Amino acid sequence: MRLSRFFLPILKENPKEAEIVSHRLMLRAGMMRQEAAGIYAWLPLGFRVLKKIEQIVREEQDRAGALELLMPTLQLADLWRESGRYDAYGPEMLRIADRHKRELLYGPTNEEMITEIFRAYVKSYKSLPLNLYHIQWKFRDEQRPRFGVMRGREFLMKDAYSFDIDEAAARRAYNKMFVAYLRTFARMGLKAIPMRAETGPIGGDLSHEFIVLAETGESGVFINRDVLDLPVPAEDVDYDGDLTPIIKQWTSVYAATEDVHDAARFESEVPADKRVNTRGIEVGQIFYFGTKYSDSMKALVAGADGVDVPIHGGSYGVGVSRLVGAIIEACHDDAGIKWPEAVAPFRAAILNLKQGDAAVDGACEKLYAELSAKGVDVLYDDTDQRAGAKFAAADLIGIPWQILVGPKGLAEGKVEVKRRSDGSRENLSPADVVAKLAG
Ligand code: ATP
Ligand code: MG
Repeated sequence: MRLSRFFLPILKENPKEAEIVSHRLMLRAGMMRQEAAGIYAWLPLGFRVLKKIEQIVREEQDRAGALELLMPTLQLADLWRESGRYDAYGPEMLRIADRHKRELLYGPTNEEMITEIFRAYVKSYKSLPLNLYHIQWKFRDEQRPRFGVMRGREFLMKDAYSFDIDEAAARRAYNKMFVAYLRTFARMGLKAIPMRAETGPIGGDLSHEFIVLAETGESGVFINRDVLDLPVPAEDVDYDGDLTPIIKQWTSVYAATEDVHDAARFESEVPADKRVNTRGIEVGQIFYFGTKYSDSMKALVAGADGVDVPIHGGSYGVGVSRLVGAIIEACHDDAGIKWPEAVAPFRAAILNLKQGDAAVDGACEKLYAELSAKGVDVLYDDTDQRAGAKFAAADLIGIPWQILVGPKGLAEGKVEVKRRSDGSRENLSPADVVAKLAG
């Protein structure tokens, strides 16, 4: 992509409305624009990151055996009356009427709808286990939308729903999602820690929130710092095998949100020098809720003995749009964003430091063509900005590799490659740059 043809409305001034660094940087880097409180338009740079995150979430859901579908954003109120949540949900639910005065709502979550779909088709235990997910916009009329995409009103969520014949099978489904989440967040360059969490009105005894430590987070957390060093399961983890050793390893080290924190246990279990009490950002949550929805909505299947029983369910959310902010909170410095490569909007940027100089222009064009041909996502800064402004923009938008092309270096057959994550630099020939970044 040529920057001269891209849409990258960078802001010079610090936006006053932004209280935390990720919100500030997303606005300054031209990633998104607020259209109403908690409602954002995703501009091209931000949209690229959102899509990368979504794709990682999708790949790990698929790997764990979940099946993607897509449910609508609008739902019938009557469906929610069946579960009893239409009235219980309160003012966070956006209620809408169509021209026939039929009551609809903009979905804040999809337990009811997926249960409706499930019960229409699945009649026997032989069709289980089943885990269905979608990645769809949600609306919650939050009392205090703030921090940009971290607490929006309209936001993108991945939500998966598992269906099993009994509690033991449902726990296996839960464990699969637990492992998939460990892998998902690690692939994005995040340390997201599963913490025992409140199950809230959903009930059941099993829930974990996946939390990224950050001072700006809204959740208070207590952990044993050893949890930060636990290994994340590899790509070839066997989802059909026994996952309980992995779950045991992760859940036997103390990690809890303040809602369920047990101070006595924390102090007796965790050595003083390993106790951490800090804040974090909830990027995902998983629940086992038993037969709550299948009881109220009559989602029954025939068991092996032919007797109909309510299915055991779980639901599993990931805050896809919130993750964009959470990753920036974890990966930035004073100059701007430092994207982990897996979610970066572009892998490399070519900075032409003397636009109009025939040799420099030629070398940049050649690099741009060769990297593009090798499938490297590259942003070519071919604008007539001065070099200092190009450096600042590249640092601000956080491209992992910057290729600085100027007359001095070129005279010696070299360009400079700067790595955004640690600021390290090396001088390479253009051919070596292509080999390095395409490898
Ligand atoms: P919170 O406690 O932050 O309000 P929640 O527990 O109500 O979130 P869930 O129902 O568990 O949210 O939704 C699944 C995921 O969706 C959350 O883990 C979070 O990452 C994300 N999410 C929830 N609410 C918002 C929001 N208002 N804006 C952006 N992401 C959100
Ligand atoms: Mg939650």
